Amino acid sequence: MIFLKSHQEIEIMRVANRVVSEILAELREVARPGVSTSEIDRLATELIRKKGARSAFKGYQIRNGTVPFPATICISLNNEVVHGIPSAQRVMKDGDVVSFDFGVIYKDFYGDAAMTFALGKVSDDAARLIATTAAALEEGIAQATVGNRLGNVSAAIQKRAESEGFSVVREFVGHGVGRRLHEDPAVPNYGVRDRGVRLREGMVIAIEPMVNAGKPDVQLQDDGWTAVTRDGSLSAHFEHSIAITEKGPLVLSRL
Ligand code: MG
Repeated sequence: MIFLKSHQEIEIMRVANRVVSEILAELREVARPGVSTSEIDRLATELIRKKGARSAFKGYQIRNGTVPFPATICISLNNEVVHGIPSAQRVMKDGDVVSFDFGVIYKDFYGDAAMTFALGKVSDDAARLIATTAAALEEGIAQATVGNRLGNVSAAIQKRAESEGFSVVREFVGHGVGRRLHEDPAVPNYGVRDRGVRLREGMVIAIEPMVNAGKPDVQLQDDGWTAVTRDGSLSAHFEHSIAITEKGPLVLSRL
């Protein structure tokens, strides 16, 4: 069931997503070689409180009986695709490919965004992977217009990623977002044009390509959360929350 949002609800979601993107920008400034991922998590927790919001991820369970996510932010390094758990033992170093995925709850609505960046000097392939994933997200967003089908969003992302020789992850997908972190519809990063649900004014979706330098397959680590590439290749992840409006896609999480 897809919940359409009113103008007032979209305004609240705009604030929620601004909180997300402002905090992400601050965390990016602090991320440098020698800083542990748990230091970033601590700062994220402090900043959320200062802005009067709550963590969307801490304690989140995929379903009843699964391990609750133990931190405020997901930090995934190098071959980690998504859902990396911050730890004092994980110290970022020069040459790392770092992904931050972050969400908050503000006035009962969720904001959700993610970004990947290189710390210091990385290989040309790593830089191209990051740039391609960011570009794939933008091409998906451009298709998020009233009357278009969701498959156009998915196909645009897949085409861009695969045109560079990369692959898109199948196990994790984007999603509707609103009073819940994950609502209908699912937003895959692969698909066929002119298929899927028709986009309507008031839908809000999180589009989040996860692109691997190698094969698309992922596997789950023993911590119950961290997903890594099965072949050990690098992975990148970008996400924006977007409202579908008559005036075109409104990227709520863009500063
Ligand atoms: Mg998301």
